[in-house]
Amino acid sequence: MNVAAALAQARALGLERLDAHLLLAHALQQSRAWLVAHDDAALSPGQQQRFAADCRRRADGEPLAYVLGEREFHGLQLQVGPAVLVPRPDTETLVDWALELLPTLPAKAPAVVDLGTGSGAIALALKHAHPAARVCAVELSAPALAVAQANAERLRLDVAWQPGSWWQPLRGRHFDLAVSNPPYIAAADPHLPALRYEPLQALSPGGDGLSALQQIVQGAPAHLAPGGWLLLEHGHDQAPAVRSLLQAHGLCEVSTRLDLAGHPRCSGGQLSRSA
Ligand code: GLN
Repeated sequence: MNVAAALAQARALGLERLDAHLLLAHALQQSRAWLVAHDDAALSPGQQQRFAADCRRRADGEPLAYVLGEREFHGLQLQVGPAVLVPRPDTETLVDWALELLPTLPAKAPAVVDLGTGSGAIALALKHAHPAARVCAVELSAPALAVAQANAERLRLDVAWQPGSWWQPLRGRHFDLAVSNPPYIAAADPHLPALRYEPLQALSPGGDGLSALQQIVQGAPAHLAPGGWLLLEHGHDQAPAVRSLLQAHGLCEVSTRLDLAGHPRCSGGQLSRSA
């Protein structure tokens, strides 16, 4: 079987053209450009088997990032697997907001924490783009923390990893910036079944989807330095609820930012400087 026939076989399974190309490039350890220039190159039996198995996984609905074992996020190539949520472009909104704030903070080496770091995507993107920050990341799931640590080692980024739930392992510590993309999908959300390959505990806290956001906001005043910021990712219809939570816990300068699709995706606020 050659490249053209392999791609035709993948399309016959119902795969998108881009997915078929990326999976074949992966099976052959070549670039997409190479594939286009070599559509009569023969696949070895091992490559054929690998490609066919990968195509079946993708056709069954497994995220492409898990089949490839990697996903790009904010310019970093991260390894991902079923222990962690696939990093999404929406979350770059949160990273960009944090990167705008970091240079405005009075601390030269601001203390930053990412609560529920998963693959480490947010913490690693912040450390990479703002090396002066002292970045710490908390994660309850041991398999997820192992993925994050492996990503940090491969990318040679220095982040302090903390097992635990939200603020719980950070008693007595204060941060200039706290960020989180917690589970926020409501238990009855019709999109949840389509995300069945991803860890449920990273997607939904159950109920109306607000309980993790609530816990994080609640703990913020005790863990933010005076003038410190909390930025949260949330569902497209949760911005008013999250802004109310932030205000109810005494944060000021509360505002919301849109993701690339134009949905209100992140809200944040600042602890008063005189707190
Ligand atoms: N943004 C993801 C989704 O809707 C969910 C991420 C999360 O729950 N934190 O697919």
